[in-house]
Amino acid sequence: MPVKKPRKPKGGLKFCPKCGSLMYPRTIGGKRQLFCPSCGYVMEISEEEIDAYKIKVKAKRSPKDKIIVVNASQPPPDALVLKGQVRCPKCGHDEVIFWMMQTRSADEPPTRFYRCTKCGHTWREYA
Ligand SMILES: [Zn+2]
Ligand SMILES: [Zn+2]
Repeated sequence: MPVKKPRKPKGGLKFCPKCGSLMYPRTIGGKRQLFCPSCGYVMEISEEEIDAYKIKVKAKRSPKDKIIVVNASQPPPDALVLKGQVRCPKCGHDEVIFWMMQTRSADEPPTRFYRCTKCGHTWREYA
């Protein structure tokens, strides 16, 4: 019987040994490493390995990843208060705070955000 060797995953992608999430490359203080976005596990990696890894992770990404998700929990100072025009889908209140934000690429229309002044429910609408 041959000696059992630890299985090397094909394709070069590495998964977190703790939680199984896909590891992402990063450079900290000139040191290359892989980190787990889910649990924070860190793995040291050589320069050649991370170069190969970057290409693979890039290729795996879908165009969806281009979407920039902004923290829409806080309305900007220029947000407007709309009365009697929009209804909160949650509580039916008709006074909402309204603002727009560029969440996708610049050539696309901005996303409209609404927040109910009564229950705080926040939702978005694509123009
Ligand atoms: Zn993990
Ligand atoms: Zn509401």
